[in-house]
Amino acid sequence: VSDLPSYPSDAPASQALFDRARAVTPGGVNSPVRAFRAVGGTPRFMASGRGPFLTDADGREYVDLVCSWGPMILGHAHPAVVDAVTAAVARGTSFGTPGEGEVELAEEIVARIAPVEQVRLVTSGTEATMSAIRLARGFTGRAKVVKFAGCYHGHVDALLASAGSGLVTFGLPDTPGVTGAQAGDTLVLPYNDLDAAKAAFAAHGAEIACVITEAAPGNMGVVTPAPGFNAGLAELCRAHGALFVSDEVMTGFRVSKAGWFGIEGVTPDLLTFGKVMGGGFPAAAFGGRADVMAHLAPAGPVYQAGTLSGNPVATAAGVTTLRNCTDAVYAHLDRASATLRDAVSAALAKEGVAHTVSNAGNMFSVFFTGTPVRDYDDARGQEAFRYSAFFHAMLDAGVYLPPSAFEAWFLSAAHDDAALDRILDALPQAARAAA
Ligand code: PLP
Repeated sequence: VSDLPSYPSDAPASQALFDRARAVTPGGVNSPVRAFRAVGGTPRFMASGRGPFLTDADGREYVDLVCSWGPMILGHAHPAVVDAVTAAVARGTSFGTPGEGEVELAEEIVARIAPVEQVRLVTSGTEATMSAIRLARGFTGRAKVVKFAGCYHGHVDALLASAGSGLVTFGLPDTPGVTGAQAGDTLVLPYNDLDAAKAAFAAHGAEIACVITEAAPGNMGVVTPAPGFNAGLAELCRAHGALFVSDEVMTGFRVSKAGWFGIEGVTPDLLTFGKVMGGGFPAAAFGGRADVMAHLAPAGPVYQAGTLSGNPVATAAGVTTLRNCTDAVYAHLDRASATLRDAVSAALAKEGVAHTVSNAGNMFSVFFTGTPVRDYDDARGQEAFRYSAFFHAMLDAGVYLPPSAFEAWFLSAAHDDAALDRILDALPQAARAAA
């Protein structure tokens, strides 16, 4: 392939729904990447999910490698989660008071991740990172935030900032609607570049409230943190009185019981969570050092709140999901991920397609470039149009991949040999399409 062709859809029910949706919703979707803009074609409107499978409005079944962008680690409609949620709904769906479910979910998180001494529940990953940054600023009395190009932390104004030119520059708004002032306290640095971080601290150390980074990035595609990068950031923060915020919204409870912290062991001051911990419901969290968390209202002066925070249905889903994420689940995810990575690589190699399969634990992405991917520039250097051809060939064969070349692929405990075989069977044709 040499360009992004149009992909005629054989999905009349999805097309009809998309037409209706576009009349009442901007772009027809409630989160941009769902719209298939990056790959072309008609987004599939899903009607149901069970185990590793999704079924669309036209009745076609797909092996799901998106898993709702990470949360569905046990697969769709897991019986224990469905039971827990059904029971919770029957007891009442929201009280706006404290309840046992939120204590249980907080205890599950604190028990798994040593640096999390206290945790506050919120409803989205965006809220978690936004609140963590406010807390870091309130705790340190400083304004500036360091982030890395290609890391996504939700649509927080201050974090929708692009790198300016030069090694250490203040951020520029990444989207209309973010002001220069909101982006201007953000320093955007190249990922995996500890020297750039050292230079930023040398120039602005006394003004930096925190460094926020994806524990292991999945939002420019999966990029492995270089050995010593996260540890170096933690050390720089400690030396300069700033907080190290590790965003584990994607990696948390996904790559191990204790997320990326469980793999690398670097101790952050604050961590953010979402996705898996909500078991497919809107639940997220931020937590960390007790002395820092003590600055949060009502214990301390930094304001943060939420009508549906700690919602009893969401916490029931989250607690049940975490309790079912056994060691055997993570062993299965690691094995299945390795199998799939090897198979994708072999299929592409057979067709002579340049590629790099990059992973962080069981999360992985396929980049259509022959060179290693260490940062956002490397990721953007790939031939993304090849991914579109690959994606559509897989879709036609009944495999639902992320509709963008810059996303992680997610497996679940329900992806058994039969589901994996369906993916493996689809690969040769998709690799040929990408060639
Ligand atoms: N942080 C990371 C690392 C994420 O991957 C995401 C979402 O993809 C977020 C934050 C934002 O989470 P949410 O979409 O729940 O607001």
